[in-house]
Amino acid sequence: MSAQIGVTGLAVMGANLARNLARNGYTVALHNRSVEKTDALLEKHGDEGDFIRTESLQELVDSLEKPRRVLIMVKAGAPVDSVIEQLEPLLEPGDIVIDAGNSHYEDTRRRESALAEKNLHFVGVGVSGGEEGALLGPSIMPGGSRESYDSLGPMLEKISAKYNGEPCCTWVGTDGAGHFVKMVHNGIEYADMQVIGEAYDVLRTAAGIEPAEQAKIFNDWNNGTLSSFLIEITAEVLAHTDARTGKPFVDVVVDSAGQKGTGRWTVVSALELGSPTSGIAESVFARGLSSQRDQRELAQGILEGHEGSVELPEGFVEDVRLALYASKLVSYAQGIDMLTAAATEYGWDLKLDEIASLWRAGCIIRAELLDDIMKAYAADEKPANLLLAPAFAEAIAGAVPAWRRVVATAVQLGIPVPVFSSSLAYYDGLRRKRLPAALTQGLRDLFGAHTYNRVDAEGTFHTLWGEDRSEVEAVDTH
Ligand code: NDP
Repeated sequence: MSAQIGVTGLAVMGANLARNLARNGYTVALHNRSVEKTDALLEKHGDEGDFIRTESLQELVDSLEKPRRVLIMVKAGAPVDSVIEQLEPLLEPGDIVIDAGNSHYEDTRRRESALAEKNLHFVGVGVSGGEEGALLGPSIMPGGSRESYDSLGPMLEKISAKYNGEPCCTWVGTDGAGHFVKMVHNGIEYADMQVIGEAYDVLRTAAGIEPAEQAKIFNDWNNGTLSSFLIEITAEVLAHTDARTGKPFVDVVVDSAGQKGTGRWTVVSALELGSPTSGIAESVFARGLSSQRDQRELAQGILEGHEGSVELPEGFVEDVRLALYASKLVSYAQGIDMLTAAATEYGWDLKLDEIASLWRAGCIIRAELLDDIMKAYAADEKPANLLLAPAFAEAIAGAVPAWRRVVATAVQLGIPVPVFSSSLAYYDGLRRKRLPAALTQGLRDLFGAHTYNRVDAEGTFHTLWGEDRSEVEAVDTH
């Protein structure tokens, strides 16, 4: 018996993907650096499907049908390079090496190009859904060559999550495109969680609504346009009471948010691409600030808030829901804008409707909204920005008055709402006829002769600030 796919790296994610493949009828060869994990998997779950036990990469490679498919699921970073280095001499042209871990897309681009020189396919695959998703059906974002997808795609589609029967897996683009799309997914996930946190804070601090009561509100919200996995589990967490103290669980958890780095990667990449991804950036910074516990503790004794008092407008809970919805839309719009910028930069033919469709099930940001986003980008006329798609333009415009009330209330009461407010600033920045960037250009021209364009004439100009302030046409040095 030969295996259709081999999995090396059998910690929780690799083991669950291997089981998912076997449960779907594939024969899976198993390998782990230390054989204990392989044996533990076989002992516990060996009866779930057809597995082949191997102890070395040579044995793993020998057990595979050709062209071989080897899925690497080891710790991201140097271990992936180490495994590739060991595998490469054992493989033949046309074989496919898959990295389904959380690798940085630039690493994937480098690895793909190096293996392509050896006529090997390297496929960076973004996988979202955590441990449970890996076992029961994750959202899968494969990159690599189109040719490799022809061989690999049917397997990945079979083990992926399904939305109304449609697989949440499709080829997204060459080389690192899959890992890039997964990275942006994670960035959006950061923003999604932050806006939920801001809504919770405003409801609790401004409106005095306790966590258990908020759980009901979030449950209600989960039945409308906000319907999503993260809103659903927010209700679950807020409803939870700590067994030790009888307090709301959320009150006994230290308020420092951890991060593994994919949000930071998204922001660094957004800066490099020049894409204004303020919501995701503010979410990463908010986690950073929450973690500066020493400074925060000192500040509590030193910095005055001078909070005002505010009479809450009628329907404030609904206002908060709309502020959350609008800010969430902005985060998606910004994430998608980043995808558009990356497509140009890296020559990827990213299909935004297909990418939105992959996120409809299996992954952490799965939400009803994604079906509408998919439809917006499937239309003949693609919106230049998600917020300009007719349905979303109308929805967000409808939310604006409530959104402004919530941000104003939070500011008055000293409640930090970095994503609610920066998203509103993005919205206003996008729609305003004139921005103060004109003044920025004037300043740049004065101190650095950086030139400017005029609203009423073609060309590039410079004012002779140190002389008679006459204007000269600047020579284009580009
Ligand atoms: P870990 O990231 O904890 O990595 C452990 C595995 O890597 C073990 O199998 C270990 O082997 C192997 N390993 C580590 N170093 C080496 C090396 N130098 N050579 C060979 N093997 C090595 O495993 P996870 O299952 O948690 O995650 C795997 C990947 O999936 C990571 O990239 C992670 O970021 C990603 N991930 C994705 C999630 C998602 O939702 N998509 C969730 C969690 C993780 P040994 O047993 O011998 O030590």
